[in-house]
Amino acid sequence: MTGEQYKQSLRDGRAVYMNGELVDDVTSHPLLKSAVDRVARGYDKHYQAGEDAFGPYFSIPTTPEALREEAIRKSSLDGPTNTTSSSLLMLLSASSKMRATHPEYSDRAIGYLERARAADTRCVQTITDAKGHRALPPSQQDDPDLYLRIVERRSDGIVINGAKIHISHAVISHDLLVMPTKRMKPDEGDWSVACVVPVNAPGVTIVNVSFAPRPDIDERFFPFSSSHPRTEGFVIFDHVFVPWDDVFLAGEYEHSATFAHSLGLWERAASLGHYVDVADTLVGLAQLISEANGTDKISHIKEKIGEMILYASMLRASYEATLADVSYTPEGWASPSELHATAGKYYGSANFSAMVRHLHDIAGGGVLTSPTLLDLEHEVTGPYLSKYMRTMPGVSAQLRLRLFHAIRDFTADAFGGFQHVTILQQGGGLFAQQIVTKKHFNMTNAKNLGLQTAGVIGWDESVPDCHLSDLEGQLERTKRPVETEATA
Ligand SMILES: Cc1cc2nc3c(=O)[nH]c(=O)nc-3n(C[C@H](O)[C@H](O)[C@H](O)COP(=O)(O)OP(=O)(O)OC[C@H]3O[C@@H](n4cnc5c(N)ncnc54)[C@H](O)[C@@H]3O)c2cc1C
Repeated sequence: MTGEQYKQSLRDGRAVYMNGELVDDVTSHPLLKSAVDRVARGYDKHYQAGEDAFGPYFSIPTTPEALREEAIRKSSLDGPTNTTSSSLLMLLSASSKMRATHPEYSDRAIGYLERARAADTRCVQTITDAKGHRALPPSQQDDPDLYLRIVERRSDGIVINGAKIHISHAVISHDLLVMPTKRMKPDEGDWSVACVVPVNAPGVTIVNVSFAPRPDIDERFFPFSSSHPRTEGFVIFDHVFVPWDDVFLAGEYEHSATFAHSLGLWERAASLGHYVDVADTLVGLAQLISEANGTDKISHIKEKIGEMILYASMLRASYEATLADVSYTPEGWASPSELHATAGKYYGSANFSAMVRHLHDIAGGGVLTSPTLLDLEHEVTGPYLSKYMRTMPGVSAQLRLRLFHAIRDFTADAFGGFQHVTILQQGGGLFAQQIVTKKHFNMTNAKNLGLQTAGVIGWDESVPDCHLSDLEGQLERTKRPVETEATA
């Protein structure tokens, strides 16, 4: 599609509400227009004529080099296109895992991928349920719709009810890729459902929240968020019919986690790539504002920037490991390392606040109180601001104000707050990252090193993973002298 065709495709009768009103046309709404325009520019950039043409974001990596290319490309894509790419790669991974036992689901998933590629559509990850009482499973909630479920099975398809919340880019995309938010139990077949639903399907309503700056404010006051708008959708499914061709799971609880796990892999790898850019940006802003303020040679400032550099470098290292430590599906599709992606994402999320704290500490209160560039351009206030906001030859008031505005917008205003929570929660909170990291960590190796260090087994011996209490009986020797070399 061209950008214009994309815009036209969004005028499809979708039911979108925002700030208490029905949105007539998402392409012209003041708080959505810039997000739509950004995606449209992406369409125009990648447009090729011809029946068989498809965007590079639809390609399937089969080598580490292709995986890396894909990752580099991702950093320049808009949100919905990025999400589409991760979602379709997730479908591939899930389809591969289900092929042996459920070839029909596997075929339908691949069928959808081909349709999306041919039509150049954008789909979003539609996972997070309302979830109700967090400590209770779906079947024990006082309202069974708190997790999206099948309410009717028909000869031509299924009918679903529920809500999926925090769904990024939903209002400006075409399809909702619905999947269970967690592993279901044997009696939770109705909640074990994965399918694709068009955004304009009867029964779908989206209540949207936007983090775009208010359109009546000079966009230079929001230099980042005005060009990187985010929209988040609260998606309600009220008896939505889904034809069988669009259903990838309908009751097989043992595969309820297959989709979310597959998505987790691609989502976390993409998030980690994004964090690398965010971390480098934080370092850049900290260094620039310290130079603008004349504090760049002061020891505690250098130390703080040094810590930020370590953070950024560790993230880059884990991202490199994620892309290098590749595994393959039986079909030959390359997947990034789940262990490194998840550990890196945990580290990035857990330490983000401390890095922002350093940036704010280094920058000073101007982050919040710096007047706008319109005030700098005003005949009365401009000369005063020019005089008092400059710091030294070469560092004009305008340059310094722009840096302060960028720091506020990126870390301390509406988008900054959004980013703070998003980096923590999107793709699952810290606990979720910890569980996945533990699952992939080589505990056998770690325990063997522990046993070797304790002298319980020799340096050239190893034992299979089991609980220590089961191991003791199997060991011929329980005590060996620790070798001098090893101690050294
Ligand atoms: C900006 C943004 C964009 C997002 N985009 C998407 C998207 O596009 N698609 C999508 O599907 N989701 C999306 N998410 C959702 C994101 O994955 C969730 O926010 C995240 O999984 C946490 O779920 P929750 O917000 O419901 O919080 P909760 O589930 O309430 O979690 C809050 C805390 O409680 C803990 N907790 C909750 N239940 C349990 C339990 N049973 N046992 C142990 N600990 C528990 C969690 O670990 C966490 O620490 C997005 C979120 C944000 C903030």
